[in-house]
Amino acid sequence: MKKIAIFPGSFDPITKGHESIILRALPLFDEIIVAIGVNERKTGFFPLEKRKAWIEDVFHSEPKISVITYEGLTVDLCKKLDIKFILRGLRTSADFEFERSIGQMNKKMLPDIETVFLLTTPEHTALNSYIVRDIIRNGGDASQFIPDRINLND
Ligand code: ADP
Repeated sequence: MKKIAIFPGSFDPITKGHESIILRALPLFDEIIVAIGVNERKTGFFPLEKRKAWIEDVFHSEPKISVITYEGLTVDLCKKLDIKFILRGLRTSADFEFERSIGQMNKKMLPDIETVFLLTTPEHTALNSYIVRDIIRNGGDASQFIPDRINLND
C-alpha cells in the first residue's frame, strides 16, 4: 500500500520552514498532500487560490507532492482519502504541547492515524507565517523567509 501523508496547515503564506519540512519528509512517504485548511468564519490574509498556486509553484517539479484545500476536521479528510499519516513540524516546546493534544485527540477520533513529527532545522525555528504576515502588513521585506520561487506581489 502506498504511504501517503497529509501536511495540514493554513500556509498563509507558505514559508521556508514549511518548505523544509515537506522536502525532508519526501523520502519517508510515497506521496505528500499539502492540505490548506479553510475556515468559513475566518478569511485568510492571502486569498486561498494564491496560497495554493504558490505551493504548487514551489513544488512544480516534484510529482510526489500535491496541494488541496479542505474544510472541516483533518481526520475526516484522512478518512475520506484513506490517509494514514499526518505530517507536522515541531519548532518549540509550545508547538509540542499544542501538537500533542491535537495528535492525541486525532488518534482518539481515528485510531488508524499516526502523526509524524519532524523537528525544525535550527535556522527555521523562529519562523512562522504570523510574523511573515506582520512584516508584509507593515511594508517590510519578507522575501528571505519564503521559498525563493515565490513573489508575493504576483
Ligand atoms: P504557522 O504555524 O506558520 O502559521 P501553519 O499553521 O500553516 O503554520 O502550520 C502548518 C505546519 O507547519 C505545523 O505543523 C507547523 O508546526 C509547521 N511549521 C510552520 N512553520 C514551521 C517552521 N518554521 N519550521 C517547521 N515547521 C513549521
